[in-house]
Amino acid sequence: MPSKFECFQDGCNFMVRADSDDEVVHLVQEHAQFTHDLTLDDETIAAEIEHG
Ligand SMILES: [Zn+2]
Repeated sequence: MPSKFECFQDGCNFMVRADSDDEVVHLVQEHAQFTHDLTLDDETIAAEIEHG
């Protein structure tokens, strides 16, 4: 089942879908760092991941 994450920052349309939570977490961390200058920890991202 794919893992999906939608960025929760205002005005951001970033969405990522991957085969595993680990991959999504990695991609979201890169996005948050480069786009929002934010460091998100694994738990914060994992809590927002949707499956389906
Ligand atoms: Zn974003």
